[in-house]
Amino acid sequence: MKKVIVIRYSEMFLKGKNRGFFERVFATNIERALRGIRHELRRYSGRYLVEGFGDGDADRIVERLKKVFGIHSMSVALETGNGMDDIVEAAIAVSRPFGSFKVETHRADKRYPLTSVEISREVGGRLLAHYKALTVDVHDPSFYIYVDVRENGTALVFGEFFAGADGMPVGTAGRGLLLISGGIDSPVAGHMMAKRGMSVECLHFHSYPYTNLQAKEKVVELARVLSGYTLGKALYTVSVTHIQESIHEKCAPELMVTLLRRFMFRIAERFALRIRAQCLITGESLGQVASQTVEGMTSSNSVIESLPVLRPLVGFDKNEIIERAVKIGTYDISIQPYEDCCTVFLPDYPAIRPKLKDILAEEEKLDVEGLISEALASLEKIDL
Ligand code: ATP
Ligand code: MG
Repeated sequence: MKKVIVIRYSEMFLKGKNRGFFERVFATNIERALRGIRHELRRYSGRYLVEGFGDGDADRIVERLKKVFGIHSMSVALETGNGMDDIVEAAIAVSRPFGSFKVETHRADKRYPLTSVEISREVGGRLLAHYKALTVDVHDPSFYIYVDVRENGTALVFGEFFAGADGMPVGTAGRGLLLISGGIDSPVAGHMMAKRGMSVECLHFHSYPYTNLQAKEKVVELARVLSGYTLGKALYTVSVTHIQESIHEKCAPELMVTLLRRFMFRIAERFALRIRAQCLITGESLGQVASQTVEGMTSSNSVIESLPVLRPLVGFDKNEIIERAVKIGTYDISIQPYEDCCTVFLPDYPAIRPKLKDILAEEEKLDVEGLISEALASLEKIDL
């Protein structure tokens, strides 16, 4: 008898002619998530099995796999021979000592001498004899015992299903560049795109020395948590200090945010093309702050030349975003106090519905190309 972990995947991604590709990416992602833990990964009839790990590692493996998109559910199972004595021994080990239960059997081996119902009945009867405080309740049991009789002469016995992250395997739906700030929203936006199978790289703009190193460290930490889902390997940072100084010196203060965002988008698009990302991703949500009006989005979008800008949170309320941030483990990091580059040189009254004509007039005063090249030259890559 040995412990194994059964992985069931979302059926959806296996339909169609891309099946082989999806499966390869999925298996690679599982291997990456389990890096550093001794194990073997095997396929069997529409599932995967993790085996050959150390006795104490099952929980650690399940925790890691909970972040792998494409996994629908998991079970820690005991693998035994398919003889009734072996199956019962495993069922006793999996069972609780008291309470009501039901045995459910799946029989892949159709030549097995007993039917599924007969196996369930036999295992149930022998469990009752072993634990005197157990009762059978086939309608509303307090726990289940599942028996899976496989075609290779073994059986899997388990008691629980752990929910997986669902979604599609990361790496099957292209690559995006997430504009990540230290706030609550952008990590959630990156997580959502990764769930749809997109691999996500992170770009952060800072205004060092106006913003301090702790602010940067916080974003590194956010990117690190996010990389547990997205499998991203690095965080890229670019300084917008000189851009902000120039805007501050030369342009109308109420357009500071608008102008800065247009620089961010231009820089992000150029960098995205460099790393072969196919879109930009932001954490914008309609109406959340002054710059996130549809006019604000129009003004930043209009500097983008070729890539789509994805805003997965556009229709979300703040509390829905917070709920997700808590779930994925970024919330506590995001709420640490910090200074974002957007808060440097912030005007008293930002323009809520900036007119393109005014924006362009202000940009005339700046060496846009020079500032962009200079900013891109400050690019840093931080390995996660
Ligand atoms: P967040 O919680 O993600 O910071 P927010 O509510 O603070 O969002 P804004 O500050 O207006 O909203 O930013 C909107 C989006 O612009 C962010 O979600 C992020 O994608 C991008 N962004 C803002 N600041 C930065 C930055 N310093 N570096 C990279 N991207 C940024
Ligand atoms: Mg922000």
